[in-house]
Amino acid sequence: MSDTLFTKIINRQIPAEIVYEDDLCFAIKDINPQAPVHLLLIPKKPIDMLAHAGEEDQALLGHMMLAVGKITRELKIDSAFRLAVNNGADAGQSVFHLHMHILAGRPFHWPPG
Ligand code: 5GP
Repeated sequence: MSDTLFTKIINRQIPAEIVYEDDLCFAIKDINPQAPVHLLLIPKKPIDMLAHAGEEDQALLGHMMLAVGKITRELKIDSAFRLAVNNGADAGQSVFHLHMHILAGRPFHWPPG
């Protein structure tokens, strides 16, 4: 299987602004930001979508949720941010390598559109 866009980014084959990296995941600035802060937190393991994560990914997914806390505290946006995962094309997913959108810096409405 060929590398995903995000695998190419973490392998430094495609440029991106990487704002966080550890052994299991990394965060980049979204190329088309939908808020003053718009990051994508991505596992290095190329799971195509959340629904296809398995029991073996339990620690990885927990690790990523804690990374969200770490990143948002460091950026001082931890008092208000939105975390979103688009799962499947009909939900707006366009890159089929699991990622969490971290959005902050403006008011967010509910329900999301
Ligand atoms: P999705 O629509 O799959 O939930 O989110 C994919 C996100 O990746 C979109 O918000 C899109 O703007 C972002 N994106 C697509 N291509 C690139 C790229 O080459 N670099 C960066 N930094 N973000 C990208």
